[in-house]
Parts: sequence; C-alpha cells; structure tokens
Amino acid sequence: MYRLINVTGGVGGDCHLLIGKAKTAIVDTGMAYCAATVIDNIQKALAEYMPDHPQLDYVFLTHSHYDHLGALPYILEAWPEAKVCAAAHAQKVLRRPNALKTIRRLSEGACIVFSDGHLPPYDDHAMHVDICMKDQDIIDLGDCPVMALETPGHTQCSLTFYVDHDLIFGSESTGYTSKCGRVNTTYVNSYKQAVASIEKCRALGAAKIVSPHYGLLSDEEAAVYWQKCLEATEHHKNFILEKARSGCSEEEILEACFHEFYDEICKFEQPYRAWKANTLAAIRTVLEEFGITADKSQTASPHR
Ligand SMILES: [Zn+2]
Repeated sequence: MYRLINVTGGVGGDCHLLIGKAKTAIVDTGMAYCAATVIDNIQKALAEYMPDHPQLDYVFLTHSHYDHLGALPYILEAWPEAKVCAAAHAQKVLRRPNALKTIRRLSEGACIVFSDGHLPPYDDHAMHVDICMKDQDIIDLGDCPVMALETPGHTQCSLTFYVDHDLIFGSESTGYTSKCGRVNTTYVNSYKQAVASIEKCRALGAAKIVSPHYGLLSDEEAAVYWQKCLEATEHHKNFILEKARSGCSEEEILEACFHEFYDEICKFEQPYRAWKANTLAAIRTVLEEFGITADKSQTASPHR
C-alpha cells in the first residue's frame, strides 16, 4: 500500500513523494533552483496525507547527476533526519571535490536559465549518501517495500526503485520520455549495460512505470515502454556503428548524430554542451564495446 504524489518543482527536475503506512520517501530531489517549490509541495502533501507523521524519512537517488539531486541540501535543511539512500558508487562520486564543483556549476547554470539566477547558499557536505543500497536491498515504508535494482548504463551509480511489487522508477539507463511522449535513449557509460538494465526492468512486469523527466506513464504507454526503450537504444547504437563502419571519424559520427538526433525537442531538454559530452561518451562506449577504432581527428568539429 502506497500513495504516489508528483511534487516536481520545475522544468527538468522531477521529484516524486511516496507515502507508505508508516514512513515517507522521495525519489530524486530535482534541481537546486526547484528546491523551494519542491519543499512546499512535499509539506502540503504530508500535511494532507500524513498529518500524524509530517516527516520525510528517506531520499532515494536514482543517480548522482545534478538534475536529480541538486535540491538535496535544501531538502535536508527542511528535514534533517531524512536518510539519503543511493548506490555505493554515488557515495564515492559525492566525495570527489571535482564532482561537487560540477554539480554546483551546473545547478547555478540551470538557475540562470530556468529561474532568477540566485541560488541560495548551500553546504557541499549536504551532498552525501547515508545508506548504500545494493541490488535487491529493500527499505520498507510500512506495508510498502522499496527495492533497489542496480541498473548501470547511463552512469555506473544508476539505481532503479521497485515499489510494492507494483510501481517502477526507471533509471535513465533504460531511457527517458520527452514531454511530447517520445522515448529516448540516454546510455552514456555503457551501451551493453543499458540493454541489460532494460531487460532486467522489463522482467519485473511492473504494472506502473515512472519514466525519468516525464512522470507516471499511462497504461497504454507503460505496455510498450520497455520495448520503446530497447528500440531507441538499438537505433542509436546501430546509427553509430553504421557511420563508424563507413569510415567516419569520431567527430564525423558526432556531426551525423547531431543531424539525426538533436532536434527541437532535444534542444529544449538538453543544452548543446551537455548533449555533446553525453553523445561523445556514447559513441566511444559503442565503438569500444564493438571493437571498432574510429579516427579521433578533430577536422570535422562542428562550430557551435
Ligand atoms: Zn543523468
């Protein structure tokens, strides 16, 4: 038994509240600039549905990217007793000064684009993990088990959460849904791991699916979701392999990907620099995993 409430505070930073019989949790926090709205949304939902226990007990993180945990320090200020649960590798990442710097820089950038540019100060130490969850570890919210599943591919630290044998929070390793409803691939760390992660999630046969950056899917969308994730991932990989086999350099493959995949929807959802970094990483993992060497010369570098 659980209640699911979308408490997202702004564009690009999804956050969902789970209320069990005894405890509460959020899955991801959304971006830093969304914090005040997210906290307000959580407070209102807890006052309505959990008046005897208006507390946040757990924060489950799907991975360590800024758009999924940027609001964490502010949420921990509001609920200092909340325990942060994520993969051991996410804990490792959040101990690296460079990772914390990157999170801060990207959070500030998003605050300029989506808000007034003034990010309230926060302490980097708040970006931390209290409970490391391994594959199949369970935390119970009271008649509501939340199971972690290791689903690498987008990042090494990607976790999927399976709630009460009913609802699955896909990690970005499996894919994400655009606001227009299109399913996109976003493997960055490993194509092969991403495919294995999709199959692992599909095998659970969850009735309900929350897709990253979109929210709860309709029954019709959920019925074809894993297949669409697989098709998007395969198409992306095949496109890269085809270009590489026809002799394209890394930069030429990147340029071809730009024309094939970076459309108006994508532009709105991902700044070019982030798209370029992720796509280059995806190209490299595909070439490496399929044993193809592409020319790394910079001659065809797109001027953007
Ligand atoms: Zn991510």
